[in-house]
Amino acid sequence: MSRILIVEDEESIAELERDYLELSGFDVEIEASGKVGLERALKEKFDLLILDLMLPEVDGFEICKQVRKEKNTPILMVSAKKDDIDKIRGLGLGADDYITKPFSPSELVARVKAHLARYERLIGSNVQENEIIEIRGLKIDKTARRVYINGEEKNFTTKEFDLLTFLAQNPNRVFRKEELFSKIWDMESIGDIATVTVHIKKIREKIELDTQKPQYIETIWGVGYRFKM
Ligand code: CA
Repeated sequence: MSRILIVEDEESIAELERDYLELSGFDVEIEASGKVGLERALKEKFDLLILDLMLPEVDGFEICKQVRKEKNTPILMVSAKKDDIDKIRGLGLGADDYITKPFSPSELVARVKAHLARYERLIGSNVQENEIIEIRGLKIDKTARRVYINGEEKNFTTKEFDLLTFLAQNPNRVFRKEELFSKIWDMESIGDIATVTVHIKKIREKIELDTQKPQYIETIWGVGYRFKM
């Protein structure tokens, strides 16, 4: 069940919103104080926030700003003044929607449902997105940190994996050895560009059919390396 937090200091409005949302099957909490509302929004897990703009102490404006620094929770801003809505919309604080009071409860419910559905799609697509890179016979499973070549798994060290993944994610771009070293190794690491050369050699031994004629990582003489797409 989706959990919603309403931060609203006008009790009758808060209760009306809650009643309608509960009828639609949501688990709803009300907080009248902006300060406590902000604390709860940051600490607890809510699926959606409905923030009144005008609140004592900490207003809806500030809550939205603070929450957005840490979370992607959908936020609906509510205000009695259309001018205020236009103003905050212009500021791009990251609220997902704006509703002017008075609004019909069914409109609120419809918007809440739409934003929850959109958010779930977003979360769902993030989980699958870009976890596997497949280029010709090479398959890099980023989530599991495993590499396969024509279906056969190859063992990679952490740095070999990071280097290969970095190159494969940025195909057709030439990277200097210095650049690769600074991207893959920490600044504190002992080593130099020869480390990169050694790792490229090891990676090729694992993924290339013929290391003399690499199909994936090309050497650009005098410059560096390029992953061929
Ligand atoms: Ca208010």
